Amino acid sequence: MNIILMGCPGAGKGTQSAKLQEYFQLKHISTGDVLRAEIASGSALGKQIAGIIDKGNLVSDEMMIAMLENIVKNTNKGIVFDGFPRTVAQAEVLDDMMRRLQRKITKVVMINLPEKEVVGRISSRRQCKKCGEILHITSAQEKVCPHCGGELYTRPDDTPARVKHRLEIYHKDTLPVKNYYQNSGKYVEINGDQSPEKVFEDIKISLSK
Ligand code: AMP
Repeated sequence: MNIILMGCPGAGKGTQSAKLQEYFQLKHISTGDVLRAEIASGSALGKQIAGIIDKGNLVSDEMMIAMLENIVKNTNKGIVFDGFPRTVAQAEVLDDMMRRLQRKITKVVMINLPEKEVVGRISSRRQCKKCGEILHITSAQEKVCPHCGGELYTRPDDTPARVKHRLEIYHKDTLPVKNYYQNSGKYVEINGDQSPEKVFEDIKISLSK
C-alpha cells in the first residue's frame, strides 16, 4: 500500500500519517521532516533549506526529488507520502520513479479543511523536539511533550503571516496536483474538520474501497 496524503497547511497530514504508519506498519515519509532534519544537522545544505522554508516558500523540485528517491529506494515497506508531491512536476517525477522501482500509488487522500480553520489550528500547533509528536496546546503554559517530556517548539513557518503565504503557494502550486490525480480512480476526499480519530476512521474506510 502506497498512499499520498494531500491537504493545505494544518489539514492534519502529519497527524494522520503517524496514525497510518502505526496502523498499517508503513514507512512515513514527511518531506517537511526530511528538510527539518537536514537543517538540524547544521550542514551548508541545511542552512540553504532553512532560508527557503522559514519564509514559507517551496524547496526546488530537483532537490526534493533527489532526497526522496534515496529514501524510497531504501525501504520495501508500503509508504505514506506526507507533503509530497507539492507540484505537478513532482507528481510526474513520482509516477516515473514508482514505475522504475516497480511500485504503485494505491490511493491519493485529500484532507479538506475550511481555510478559516487553518490559522487558528496552526497557531496552537507545537512539535516535540525529541519525539516529533505534533500537538495542539490549549494554554501557552504547555511547553513540554506529554508523551516523552521533550521540549515543544513552534515551527518558524507557523506564524500567521507565513501561513498566509504558504496558503497562497498551496493554491498556486499544490492544488493543481489535485487535478492531476482526480481522474486516476485513486483520488478520494476526506472531511478534515472533525476529530483526528474520526478523520482516521474515514481514511481507513476510503482505503478499504
Ligand atoms: P510541511 O512540514 O509538509 O508543512 O513542510 C514544511 C515546508 O517544507 C514547506 O512549507 C516547504 O517549504 C518545504 N517542503 C516540504 N515538502 C516539500 C515539497 N514536496 N516540495 C517543496 N518544498 C517542500
